[in-house]
Amino acid sequence: MAAGGELSAAVASTDSNGVARVVLRMCAQPGNNYRVAASCCAGELGRLTVTNGVPGLVYVPAGNEGTLEGFQGRLSEMLTVWRRLHVELDSMNDVSMLKTANYFVATIAEIIEQEGRPVRVRVTQNLGGLDTSPNLSVGGGNGRFQNGHIAFPNLVYLVHAETDLDGNGTNFLHKAAGFNLPFTIITNGVVAASGTVRRLNDLGNSKVLRLQTNDPLSTNFEGHQIDVAGSVATIEKVLPGPKRVRVPASYVITCAVHDDDSDLLLPKLPNMELASTALAQAYVAVRLDTPAVAVHSATNSEFVANVSRSTVLGSLVSARWGSRTLNANDFWVAFVYSAFQGPTYTNSFLTPPDWLRFSDRDPNSEGRVLLGVTRAGHVGGSLVFAESIRDGGGGALPYTEAGVVTHELGHAVGRSDLHVTTVTGGTTNLVGDGVINSSGYYLPEYLDAIRSVLRPAGP
Ligand SMILES: [Zn+2]
Repeated sequence: MAAGGELSAAVASTDSNGVARVVLRMCAQPGNNYRVAASCCAGELGRLTVTNGVPGLVYVPAGNEGTLEGFQGRLSEMLTVWRRLHVELDSMNDVSMLKTANYFVATIAEIIEQEGRPVRVRVTQNLGGLDTSPNLSVGGGNGRFQNGHIAFPNLVYLVHAETDLDGNGTNFLHKAAGFNLPFTIITNGVVAASGTVRRLNDLGNSKVLRLQTNDPLSTNFEGHQIDVAGSVATIEKVLPGPKRVRVPASYVITCAVHDDDSDLLLPKLPNMELASTALAQAYVAVRLDTPAVAVHSATNSEFVANVSRSTVLGSLVSARWGSRTLNANDFWVAFVYSAFQGPTYTNSFLTPPDWLRFSDRDPNSEGRVLLGVTRAGHVGGSLVFAESIRDGGGGALPYTEAGVVTHELGHAVGRSDLHVTTVTGGTTNLVGDGVINSSGYYLPEYLDAIRSVLRPAGP
């Protein structure tokens, strides 16, 4: 019998039915194996060994046969300790259309033409201040709105959309292919002219729209309205020469700017498919617990585009993890929560210029993406970032959502921050993602960790 178990008695006498009973108390470490041997011959049990090839002793293999050659007695089949892990799953709420949580309302004050195309719009807001990611003004990246789109005048009442943005600077949006903003001039309730806008120049005390149209412009339009993608101004003057109209200095074009995130990902419970299989290899059986608050309910935690470092480290886990205080040596619990994205660029977990800095891949040049995070100490709890996995995960194991969930649960159940590395030719490389291999199974170090802890990360 392997060490760590306990028999209630080493010797037992038969009762009136000829049955002798002892109680085996197994230790709680998952994966420990036991075989119980009984013999009526004194000294016979002392001849058993789990080391093969010892002269004079009888080897007990890891099998299930009831008898062994040369041993006068019987054996149980092999008994293996399994631990039950209660996993509580939860999710952040969805992005409501009416919330500004994941788009940005902007006003365009100028449209700038380059090489005959309106390629840049200047906005009156500070786009660089939103998440301080590297943008076209500061260099090093295309800004949060790379691959994003603009809705005119807003997301709910959509007149026009511009897709495939190339990026943004501190106060402009850029589209190399050119913006194609439609205009109409309406007189007496009918469209008198239509086309697209080539330029919007801010002259300080007025603004001038340069128009692309086959329709003639008439001074009769003065005092009537021009509508550019849903934003209306009164025409003060139709200017001579190229087709231009003067509008008030206060005129701006309202729009909603969205980055390349998918707003359809949440709420969704984390994908446990691989984690259950991987934990089974460590003799841990997963039981999924109903979330403390049902998913798809209005009481899901409110959507936030980026979970900040302080939120991860502080309020979120303790606020959402209902079974957290139940964690104990004889009752294992874990928590996996679907969030949207990890911290923004400058709120990352490590400070620049550390090459290990992780971000949310808005813009795409943020190459190292935080896909999940676990507090492996006494706080516990794991977050997986659904949008970051979709956007920057690479689409293959171990960077799929199921892989990330498995990775994070490895940290939590193994109560370890370790990322396993190998040193080759002086270079340190992660083995797989440092926790699981490319098939989604735990690395040996993590199987060891999971089978050695008293309880998972948590109280
Ligand atoms: Zn990790």
